[in-house]
Parts: sequence; C-alpha cells; structure tokens
Amino acid sequence: MKNLTILGSTGSIGVSTLQIIEAFPDRYKVVALSAGKNIDLLLKQVERFRPKIVAVATEQGAERLSAGLKGLDVQIVCGIEGLIQCATCHDAQMVVAAIVGAAGLVPTMAAIKAGKDVALANKETLVAAGSLVMAEVERQGCCMIPVDSEHSAIFQSLAGQRKEDIRRLILTASGGPFRKHDLEQLSSVTPADALAHPNWDMGQKISIDSATMMNKGLEVIEAHWLFGVPGEQIAVHIHPESIVHSMVEYWDGAVIAQLGVPDMKTPIAYALSWPQRLPLEQKPLSLTQAGSLTFAEPDLQQFPCLRLAYEAMEVGGSLPAVMNAANEVAVEAFLQQRISFLGIPELIEAVMKRHHPEQLTTIDRVLQADLWGRQEARNLIDGGLK
Ligand code: NAD
Ligand code: MG
Repeated sequence: MKNLTILGSTGSIGVSTLQIIEAFPDRYKVVALSAGKNIDLLLKQVERFRPKIVAVATEQGAERLSAGLKGLDVQIVCGIEGLIQCATCHDAQMVVAAIVGAAGLVPTMAAIKAGKDVALANKETLVAAGSLVMAEVERQGCCMIPVDSEHSAIFQSLAGQRKEDIRRLILTASGGPFRKHDLEQLSSVTPADALAHPNWDMGQKISIDSATMMNKGLEVIEAHWLFGVPGEQIAVHIHPESIVHSMVEYWDGAVIAQLGVPDMKTPIAYALSWPQRLPLEQKPLSLTQAGSLTFAEPDLQQFPCLRLAYEAMEVGGSLPAVMNAANEVAVEAFLQQRISFLGIPELIEAVMKRHHPEQLTTIDRVLQADLWGRQEARNLIDGGLK
C-alpha cells in the first residue's frame, strides 16, 4: 500500500490521479488532498477518499468545506502553511505535485525536504528553481518521477542506459490548435479558440501554453533539470498525432521512443507505480489505424515563446523564473482579453529584457524574482501593451 498526498486534486491531473487511485484501492491510499477554489468538488473528493488532512487556499474556503463535511474526522488547513502541512504529512510516501504554476514551488520543495518521493506534474517548479530543487532531491535521496507525458517517455526511454551515452533528448509537441496559422491569423485568435486543444483535455493555463508553445519551452527547461542534459542537446519536433511521446537518441545512432494513445492516465499511473506497471486496460494503440506519423521542425517566428524559453535556459539564474512569472501574468491577461495572443510573447520578452539575472541561491530569491516578473508584467499591461 502506498500512501499519497495530492496537491491540486481538483485540477485535470488531480482528478485523473484520483481516478487511478480509485481503480486500485489495494495499492493506493489518499492521506492528504489540497485544492485552490473548487470547494464543491473537493468536498466530494474528501467524502470519497477520506484523507486525514485537506488544504484549501483561503479561510472562507476552509469554512465552507468544514460546514459541508458535517463533523467528518478530517483536519482542514488553509493558505501556504496548510499546503506545506499536506506536502509534508507524516503518513505520505509520495506527493503528487499537480498544482498549476509557480504556486506549486514552495509545497513541492517542502515535500522533498521532508524526504517524500514526488510525482511531478507541476513543471513550473523546475523552470523557476530547477537547480535548487534537484540539489535537494539529491541531498534527500528521494525520487522525482515525471508525470508530464514527454518526460515520462524520456524517463522510460532512459531505463537501463547510461547518461553519458545520450546524444539528444527529442521532445515531441502536438503543435497546438494553431500549428498551421500564420502570424496574421495568430493576431486575431480568441481565448475560446486557444482553449480548444486537439489532442488533450487540460487545465486553462496549460492549454494556452500549448497554443503559444510556451508549454514546450517550459518542458525543455524541465527536461534539462530532470535529466541533467544541456539545452543544446534538447530538440523539439512537432508531431501532431501525439503518439510518440518523446525520444532519446544515443551516440551510436540508436533512438529509443515511448509510444501510446494520448491519455495522461498512462504517465500518471507510471509515476505512481514505477518501477512496476499498472494494468490500466487502456485502449490499445493501433499504429495501423493511426497510419502515418509525421514530424517537423518548430517555427520559432510563429511561436517565439519556445525561443524565449531556450534563451532563458541558456542565461539561467533568475531569468527562467522571471520568464515563467511573466508568462503566468500574460496568460491570465489574454484569458481576460486584456492582451492579444501575440501580446503574450511580446510581454514576456519585454519583461525578460528588463531583468538583470542573478544567481539563485535560495528559494526566497526565486520567489523574489517571480514577484518582480509578475509586477513588471502587470506594469507593462497597465501601461498599454496590447
Ligand atoms: P488545472 O488548472 O486543471 O488544476 C490546477 C490545480 O491546482 C487545481 O486543483 C487548483 O485548485 C490548484 N491550484 C491552482 N492554484 C493554486 C494555488 N495558488 N494554491 C493552491 N492550489 C492551487 O491544471 P492541470 O492542467 O491539472 O495542470 C497542473 C500541472 O500539471 C501544471 O503545472 C501543468 O503544466 C502540468 N501538466 C498538466 C497536464 C494536463 O494534461 N493537464 C499534462 C502535463 C503536465
Ligand atoms: Mg507535456
């Protein structure tokens, strides 16, 4: 039996994780849950999974939850302290980090410091603070297992191999809903257009990130930290069929890939059960029905966010945290129709240009850089950037 904490249990990844846990009650038990604002769903999850401790974002949320639970024996906590209590819950062996955005950094780091294994969906944690997070994983000797489908594919393609034999990591990308749009067409896309992803059903922020390809940029940085491979050895291929989830190329010319139907349950289950596999009874992959698999180079003019992420990774220090923060503000502003789709990379680039990167020595430094990036982005929007 493995005891689990789920951070971000009401989100797309959180809900899929709970569906897997529900299907394997002899193997997994939920000891802590946490969510932001969706109290109605959280209430149902607490009633169903009976965790010992639950965290919500605000005190009002905690009061609503408490009223709904009518004396059920569960500890309700709130705010960042509450998240940390869940992340470090004594009974948990593994923490599923499925909060969206840099908000996941502090609780994920707390889980690692408490020696928990982490199933990592929250890629922004590694983008903002990869050097510090991976150093702590090393220090604690815990496992950090990727949930992101590309990184799960690479993790699987690396099994039994030596790091020094890697020539390249090749991350695949669906290309998002605007793969075939030119700049003119991109200039007028709406939030509704951008939220309609062709292959995956995901939270709002990652859907917009997929449309701008910032998601792939964040994933390149995530891969850099997870697998210790330099940026120039990480390539991106557009693969609209989303069947090859990513690959590793070795110096002898061999390429090992992981394939499957596009469904996040497979990588989530693998992170929970590694090194074993769960009998998920997924729909089998039919390559004969899929027909041809296609691959192309990404167009960095069409999708500048990917270029910006490579640049931020190369400079390093506080710049990726600032880029990530500016992206979060830009995505929110686009969803509120305050800036245009092409305004997203424009805003991020403007914020990055204003930043003087410094070395990241502590998590507090990362949080300061994150705050600076957010404030700068908001000022630029208020100043009239469209
Ligand atoms: P989502 O928006 O559906 O869910 C986010 C969860 O985090 C919710 O439970 C929400 O309540 C919680 N949350 C948000 N802000 C919070 C805050 N400030 N404090 C506490 N809790 C907060 O997002 P998602 O699509 O499930 O993505 C979660 C993470 O997983 C992201 O980092 C994303 O990049 C990554 N990821 C998602 C997918 C996918 O298919 N959805 C695939 C790979 C990686
Ligand atoms: Mg991914």
